Amino acid sequence: MSRRGEQISTLAPYKQGQSTAGDTSKAPIKLSSNESPLGPSPRAMEAAKAALSEACRYPDGSQKALRSAIGEVFSLDPDMMVCGNGSEELLLLLTRICVEPGDEVILTEHCFIMAKIHAVAQGAQIVTAEEPGYRPNADAILSRITDRTRMIVVASPNNPVGLYMPKDELKRLVETVPEHILIILDAAYADFVTKPDYDAGAQYALTRPNVVMTRTFSKLYGLASLRVGWCLAARAIIERVNRIRTPFNVNSVALAAAAAAVRDIDWAERIRTHNQRALDHIIPTLRGLGLAVPPSVANFYLAFFTNEPGRSAADAEKFLLSHNIIPRPTASGAVSNA
Ligand SMILES: *Cc1c(COP(=O)(O)O)cnc(C)c1O
Repeated sequence: MSRRGEQISTLAPYKQGQSTAGDTSKAPIKLSSNESPLGPSPRAMEAAKAALSEACRYPDGSQKALRSAIGEVFSLDPDMMVCGNGSEELLLLLTRICVEPGDEVILTEHCFIMAKIHAVAQGAQIVTAEEPGYRPNADAILSRITDRTRMIVVASPNNPVGLYMPKDELKRLVETVPEHILIILDAAYADFVTKPDYDAGAQYALTRPNVVMTRTFSKLYGLASLRVGWCLAARAIIERVNRIRTPFNVNSVALAAAAAAVRDIDWAERIRTHNQRALDHIIPTLRGLGLAVPPSVANFYLAFFTNEPGRSAADAEKFLLSHNIIPRPTASGAVSNA
């Protein structure tokens, strides 16, 4: 087998969040995939239904209506955007346009697993930048840059911790990384964040030749199943992604639903408020039980357990499953609830 084939075989298969608990007669409370508990905007559902009646037609390959809607709502230039079959597909396409076998790709410690899968599939060497205090860290990333570095992927907020790189640090990062290295700012949870020192990085994607911001409709907008993401970048990058993507990568039902969803600003605000209330209640409650919980700003939180019998992560998982609640266990004795 080729070296690439061998490297691909070393990847652990993607593990989807569990979706059934002990009691199959009742719908479980599924916390394992950071999905929206409130579903999509009613306007998005209406738009999806209307689009379905035209399902015999190929979708608009230029994605124009969705790009215009995003552009209007976020005050961004639609010509600097491309949409993908989830932001996950955009990570794949961006990796393909910039990484060659043997190149190094720096991934932050708690980044999206698909970023690693796409980089390995492209034959890259993965370099991990530690996250001191579980937070994406500019110095850790900068110290990992070598002559072979071609791409850096930073998830901020990260997953499954929910912590972000402060604005000033992000500025220093993008201003220090040489322009021949592509920086992908994975801002899947940006829609939830209200902290004044958070920056999803749109201004850098607009002004720098090597910065891309990726966003998704899977989380706050509750459209995970329809698979829609978008990215913002210099036109040269967008053009290359457009040349290699499949022409109908986002289907017409998804395009229509996402355009209606992004325009429904009140619904988005409602979800944001609901999420903030949940975080404000759940995190102090878990801390009150003696668990360490980092201050997540996303729509999930991570709780650390000790090995004390009866109080371990495995015990907690068992208990939650017996109550029809599905958490997501992580490697380090923590249970991540989305
Ligand atoms: C959920 C998530 C995404 C978005 O994935 P989609 O393909 O858009 O559904 C991206 N990055 C991180 C860190 C995520 O957790």
